[in-house]
Amino acid sequence: DAPLISSMSETKAILQKHGFTFKKSLGQNFLTNPQLLMQMVSAADLTTKEQVLEIGPGIGALTQLLAHSADKVVALEIDQRLLPILADTLAAYHNVKVMNQDVLKTDLAELVRANFDHVEPIKVVANLPYYITTPILFKLLAAPVPFAKIVVMMQKEVAQRLVAEPGHKDYGSLSVAIQTKMTAKIEFKVPKTAFVPQPKVDSAIVSLTPLDTPLIPESQQASFNQFVLVAFKQRRKQMINNFLNYFGKSDQLRADLSRYFEGIGIKPTVRAEALSLVQLKQLYQILLKNNY
Ligand code: SAM
Repeated sequence: DAPLISSMSETKAILQKHGFTFKKSLGQNFLTNPQLLMQMVSAADLTTKEQVLEIGPGIGALTQLLAHSADKVVALEIDQRLLPILADTLAAYHNVKVMNQDVLKTDLAELVRANFDHVEPIKVVANLPYYITTPILFKLLAAPVPFAKIVVMMQKEVAQRLVAEPGHKDYGSLSVAIQTKMTAKIEFKVPKTAFVPQPKVDSAIVSLTPLDTPLIPESQQASFNQFVLVAFKQRRKQMINNFLNYFGKSDQLRADLSRYFEGIGIKPTVRAEALSLVQLKQLYQILLKNNY
């Protein structure tokens, strides 16, 4: 059996062999806990027919385990210095393809078309670079690729926002944008001590599974997300003021908005954080119908 890249001793040996120095600006915190990575892979529920997109393989700690569990792994790594290292650590795995690419500049539909079988499911499994967690999540959600499951490690605070329910302090535009399309679940928490170098924050592994029917049709998703950003703009304020600031203040508008709110049983003094996904959708539709 090949040694596990993610064991502390193996990671240290690899880093030393290649004289690798971490770049903080690229969110390089490598997991050195095989047990945790195995739990992460099992949360992805892979079959050996399924295909995986990994973002940020680092030195290949997670990639190696994915290669054992999936049919194929395509891993996008921005740091060119890691490519010769990955070629070395993953030499034995012929079902892995590493590409020197920035995930945020990658056309995911094209990547999938060119590299994956079109019938078998595709999943995303990744220990994300934390400085771009939210842009990556939005990119994955907006991609015209039906990812069967997304299992990603991120800072705990962001994970809590993804799963937050109405009324909770972490409930906001990110919770809503995610939950209109996916079921979000925190699989388990990961202490900062599991990484080298140690990040400042604790982490969590989140699984995202697509809803059978998204709450908002695809064609309206972008404008709904924009509506939600406005609704939650100043969380501590009444939502109506966020809309008045956005559309331009007038007594007429205030009266109209109040009427729309009341029409769907929402008090005009409410804060966005109190509203359920369904209430937000209703309000969005009324504004749309009235040409806002
Ligand atoms: N997968 C490894 C692990 O679990 O130990 C490393 C994870 S580390 C948190 C994040 C990785 O993402 C780093 O290897 C970093 O170089 C890479 N990365 C950072 N920004 C990226 C981007 N825009 N596109 C692709 N990879 C990126």
